[in-house]
Amino acid sequence: MNVPDIIIAIDGFSSTGKSSFAKKVARKFGFLYLDSGALYRGVTLFAQEERLISQIGIVSPSLETALKDLDLHFDGEGRLCMGPRCIEQQIRSMEVSAQVSPVAAVPYVRAWVDEKLHDFGRKGRIVMDGRDIGTAVFPDAQLKIFMTASEEVRAQRRYDELVSKGEQPLLEEVVQNLRERDYIDSHRETAPLRRADDAFELDNSDMSFEEELAWIQGLIQGKFGIL
Ligand code: C5P
Repeated sequence: MNVPDIIIAIDGFSSTGKSSFAKKVARKFGFLYLDSGALYRGVTLFAQEERLISQIGIVSPSLETALKDLDLHFDGEGRLCMGPRCIEQQIRSMEVSAQVSPVAAVPYVRAWVDEKLHDFGRKGRIVMDGRDIGTAVFPDAQLKIFMTASEEVRAQRRYDELVSKGEQPLLEEVVQNLRERDYIDSHRETAPLRRADDAFELDNSDMSFEEELAWIQGLIQGKFGIL
């Protein structure tokens, strides 16, 4: 299928399978995939290592200056690196998950991440997933998708993902973290998580990857008149 040079924006609640779906879509159509949440997680890890965030999630104002020297980038495999260090594993930990939403609610952190996202998006042919891609980062994206799934399905997915990475979380802790992040992400002042008016909703609670791909393929064919 010959897909035009568009930006596909995928937003939604935590652990709705956005990244897995976005990666598959990117591979299928030969697009670049960009995980905006990884950048917020990278900034959070940096703030933790530099002791610029308290136990209860209060961010020190010094983070704004410190960000000027922070080098976060993706390597050829799409893994997040901080300078020469690959931090892909650390940013997915429960410690980072527990503090990422307060960090992501800070306006200058969002501005710092947005600048990077715009650099990546300049050329089009990109699938980006996050919370505010279709509403704030690329409000003109030609295709917007808002993903949802039941809380049970989301918690189980996140739990399985952590276990597969060698962590031993409690399911209740995972549920609690999802609820907290969704609440903070939807209620912050700057670029809160919400469905863009022109986004297509995908509830994938009971869908396989093949069904998800068939769904988006049908959407693209209909929207861009491709046979
Ligand atoms: O997508 P992921 O769950 O890895 O994102 C981690 C956190 O980063 C989210 O809970 C949210 O607080 C923040 N985020 C955001 N805006 C985005 C992507 C992620 O605020 N576009």
